[in-house]
Amino acid sequence: MSAFNPALRPADGASEHRYIHVIGSSVFVDDRPGDDGWAVHVLGMLGDQACWGVDVPHGEDPSYGAATDLYSYYGRAGEVDWLIAGRAVQLVEWARTHRYCGRCGTETVSLDGERAMKCPACALLAFPRLAPAMITLVTRGDEALLARGVAFRAPMYSCLAGFVEPGESLEGAVVREVREEVGVEVTNVRYQGSQPWPFPHSLMVGFRADWASGDIVCDPTEILDAQWYTRDNLPPIPPAISIARKLIDAWLAEG
Ligand SMILES: [Zn+2]
Repeated sequence: MSAFNPALRPADGASEHRYIHVIGSSVFVDDRPGDDGWAVHVLGMLGDQACWGVDVPHGEDPSYGAATDLYSYYGRAGEVDWLIAGRAVQLVEWARTHRYCGRCGTETVSLDGERAMKCPACALLAFPRLAPAMITLVTRGDEALLARGVAFRAPMYSCLAGFVEPGESLEGAVVREVREEVGVEVTNVRYQGSQPWPFPHSLMVGFRADWASGDIVCDPTEILDAQWYTRDNLPPIPPAISIARKLIDAWLAEG
């Protein structure tokens, strides 16, 4: 399978086109660009195929019965197709929400040669938004700490996660979030992998950390329940879409 390469314009050799129609935050994949006058954004190249994000105007929704949200699309699409669709949603949503300068309110224009919106009056630049978030699996001997967050859509237990604060390192965010959410101190924080997470524009950065001290004391505003689990006694865990599951699976494979 070809790799996807982000790009600002289609390659000269582009022989096919894929249009990701973005309806709200759902997607509909087509080989046609939609109506004249709809904004389109180059996403990049998948082999010889140029990929585009199409900003379907609000109110055009009824003709898109087959549109699907990105959670559901994961089960139907391959990994690369899902990443491209996620990129489409993020870039279209970014363009929708950066039509005016955040400093002086003038209408922005998209900048040539760069993925940016520029204010013609005061020259402020706005780049696509990415919010780094850390996610970590804490282990202690042959146990792992899994928690049920108050915001989970399903009754499952997962890794701890949170957004990185301005001025903070990723490792610092791991230590702080674990302390805040379950009252435990961790050490030996190590990087495991990352995943674009287009809900709406996160980059999840995955870690493992070792328990250092402390008993679990949940912050009730964030965590309903958290426990230490052994590999043979697991609660319901997240589906394969998430890096949380990959972190848990990697730990399971060590047992
Ligand atoms: Zn401005």
